[in-house]
Amino acid sequence: MASIGHIAVGMALGRAYSPDPKVARRAAVALTLVSLWPDVDAVGFALGVGYGESLGHRGATHSLLVALAVGLAGYVVAERRGLPAMRTAVFVAVVAMSHALLDTMTYGGGLGCALFWPLSDARFWSPVRFIPIAPIGMRLLSARGLWVMARELVIFLPFWAYALWPRRKPASA
Ligand SMILES: [Zn+2]
Repeated sequence: MASIGHIAVGMALGRAYSPDPKVARRAAVALTLVSLWPDVDAVGFALGVGYGESLGHRGATHSLLVALAVGLAGYVVAERRGLPAMRTAVFVAVVAMSHALLDTMTYGGGLGCALFWPLSDARFWSPVRFIPIAPIGMRLLSARGLWVMARELVIFLPFWAYALWPRRKPASA
């Protein structure tokens, strides 16, 4: 994936988080970062970490159990800021899990996701795979990279529409 889908999910759930546009905007930024965070493991390529290792790409950070832990961190942060802690935890965990699950729906190379790390290093694929894998790094700016991005834009159109649809103005009394 070219991350466009992950961004769409983060933005859509940010909007769903709160009816207050100001809160929803902040939630959209925060949840988009949560949605993208598992791919920090891509620095492993530069550091010489093997793709198939626990800390390799789509390893530990793409685990559903780690996503739950991230949700827990969301709970703590929300509680400190006076936000609804349980609601925040659920949104954060769902967005973090969506990243790994969407990655398992890609095709075109690479490895699946270590969904159950640290219990298992096994990599998993979804039985349904319809999202083309993105070329890594600057190669994203190739013809194939642009095709992947365009396709992701289309696949995630419902998320974009929901995230960006103008809100109805509150009736002025
Ligand atoms: Zn990923």
